Amino acid sequence: MSWKFSDRAIALKSSAIREILKLTEQPDMISFAGGLPSPDTFPVTEIKQSLDVIMQGSEAIGALQYGPTEGYAPLRKWIAEHVSKRDNITISPSQVLVVTGSQQALDLIGKALINKGSKVLVETPTYLGGLQSFTQFEPEYISIESDEQGLVPDSLKAEVADEASFLYVIPNFQNPTGRRLPLERRQQLAEKAKQAKMLMVEDDPYGELDYKGHRLASLFSLAPENTVYLGSFSKILAPGFRLGYIIASEVFINKLVQLKQATDLHTPSITQRIAYQIVKDGFLDTHIPKIRQLYKTRCQFMLDALTRYMPAGVNWSKPEGGMFIWVNVPENINATELLTEAIQHKVAFVPGETFFAGGERTNCMRLAFVTVPEEKIERGIKILAELIKKHAND
Ligand code: PMP
Repeated sequence: MSWKFSDRAIALKSSAIREILKLTEQPDMISFAGGLPSPDTFPVTEIKQSLDVIMQGSEAIGALQYGPTEGYAPLRKWIAEHVSKRDNITISPSQVLVVTGSQQALDLIGKALINKGSKVLVETPTYLGGLQSFTQFEPEYISIESDEQGLVPDSLKAEVADEASFLYVIPNFQNPTGRRLPLERRQQLAEKAKQAKMLMVEDDPYGELDYKGHRLASLFSLAPENTVYLGSFSKILAPGFRLGYIIASEVFINKLVQLKQATDLHTPSITQRIAYQIVKDGFLDTHIPKIRQLYKTRCQFMLDALTRYMPAGVNWSKPEGGMFIWVNVPENINATELLTEAIQHKVAFVPGETFFAGGERTNCMRLAFVTVPEEKIERGIKILAELIKKHAND
């Protein structure tokens, strides 16, 4: 059979790094590569109990029937109330669209806003999955200068902001760097967006994983007219639910509803009800602090191991939340090449260049720590440090 693939499908390239990372699925591998939440945090008992309650009660039919594209009404209302209270703003349920993971939000936003050649502003580096979603619609990426604190608002020129379809930004414990945008920069960015009438897509799957529980004002709360906010249940319940949400002005939500209808009709009725049943009476108030504590401990353990083993010339981010540490290695080391060698020593990570829209840098890597036991973190970092030392003076 000769497949008559569309130009869009042909343009999708399977990444060489993805092929290498397939090797990391071997059981004896120490993998810092996967961006998975820790299964120790999955609320298995609560899920079982909730499913029982739903199946024995009046919600059973609704859980198994088609539902509205906008989402299960009680869940939309809960999301509106939860985010309104958390961020000290007022959101109505009609501003909420439940989506099949926030990854779907990125796809729908691409469909809604990107024409071929549209300018999309991104952080350096940024979330690979965001780039993958947007790239389908052939934008022109403009990488905005970023430092260890995130986007540098001063480097965003008014004329660039003015012309952009949107700015894609992950302000909290960013994937891949773990960095958090300081409040002052959020305020500057919000001002710029208002002045230039620029839209910001604020992707926030890690916002609740703040180790100290000090949430900074969201961009949405600072510039609601200029922001589309993306939330997710993947890191606070379980990614298998495939549950996320978009908060935006009603006009934009209505457009996305049309696009979502054509994409998958609606997010599964059953997972929306299970999630609602779990969260409705305050379960997250006790659950999220447990996740934060576990991740904080693992993060500190990896930071200590990096300090113990890494040679001079290597530096790394010190996240205050989330799941990732970003490591900069000496400039002569290409992390993609290093990965092939590291895999032979049974250690894996994601090389940094994949996270740059223009592949700007190669001497960096993302390390995920929440699924790796401490003893393996220790061993894996030691092996990585030895490989880096070996090549530092090549
Ligand atoms: N945005 C970012 C920044 C992410 O890291 C992820 C998950 N890795 C997603 C979106 C997608 O999350 P989900 O579809 O599970 O909600």
